Amino acid sequence: ESERELFEGVVKSISRGGGILRGAHGEITFFLKSELAMLQKTGVSVGEEVYYSMKDDGSALVERIAKRKSIFSRPDPLRPKIERVIAVNIDYVCMVSSLDSPVFNPFFIDRVLIGARQSGAEFVLCLNKMDLEVEDKEQVLKELDYYRQLGVSIFEVSAHDEQGIDDLKLFLKGKKSVFVGTSGVGKSSLLNAISPDLDIKTQETREKAGGRGRHTTVMSTFHYLEDDDLYIIDTPGFREFNLMEISKDELKFYFPEFDGLESCKFSNCQHIHEVGCVVLDALDNGDIYERRYDSYLRILDTLPKSET
Ligand code: GDP
Ligand code: ZN
Repeated sequence: ESERELFEGVVKSISRGGGILRGAHGEITFFLKSELAMLQKTGVSVGEEVYYSMKDDGSALVERIAKRKSIFSRPDPLRPKIERVIAVNIDYVCMVSSLDSPVFNPFFIDRVLIGARQSGAEFVLCLNKMDLEVEDKEQVLKELDYYRQLGVSIFEVSAHDEQGIDDLKLFLKGKKSVFVGTSGVGKSSLLNAISPDLDIKTQETREKAGGRGRHTTVMSTFHYLEDDDLYIIDTPGFREFNLMEISKDELKFYFPEFDGLESCKFSNCQHIHEVGCVVLDALDNGDIYERRYDSYLRILDTLPKSET
């Protein structure tokens, strides 16, 4: 077989046996070379950088996959041992939360924060619906301040009155970002505020279309907005976010606030009720934020025992 010319492309969406990629020939259907389909345990993912040749029918044959820069994934909600890749080669995991409706949930944020750390991408928090008048706004802002102290980039935005959108756009420029969030936080509205060209269906447009849920995003989709130099991957709304490939003994390393302390008496201390635990001391002194420690315990409870 003669060497065919290879072109570079990025995977935009996935369907059985292939999907759509964006490359030198615009947006075209692709198929995977059969060896590749078997080799890659997780197949190709949205955001994948690939090399393809052109087939006679105008579709692409993906022949090679570039080394991934980051992999953002989670366990399959029904089969927890199976990894579901959400997106690859991203710079930012942008989590959308709302000031209210649905209620602000920092425990959910903590999970995605760890998932983002594992992926190799930077975690970014977009707090939407800042236009709402909410009684416990102070408490939410306190949580945000805490995340800021942990070094998280935070954008307080409103898709409705457009506050904070320009700053967010500037931040996203030239980077690849995957947007995640529970449904109802206004992720679709926010993306449309970032660029109307995205034209993502919101709750209102879904209802107008009459199809309850039928038109919602079911898979991640990559969008490139040339004018604004934005690379955005939209994902289906998550109901939960569990962690993968992390054991009870490793979880503590994802809580930077435990770092600066002296060592606990036992080097394998899980900071639950051990004698000589400096994390428990710091908690008593108020040096560690109790809500985060609760989060640590809650997540710990869901993780498998270490294999030793
Ligand atoms: P998604 O499920 O996260 O994609 O959320 P949608 O974009 O469909 O929005 C869910 C609901 O929240 C809709 O009724 C929106 O009008 C509303 N919403 C979205 N953004 C905002 C906002 O910034 N402020 C307010 N007050 N409501 C918003
Ligand atoms: Zn300890």
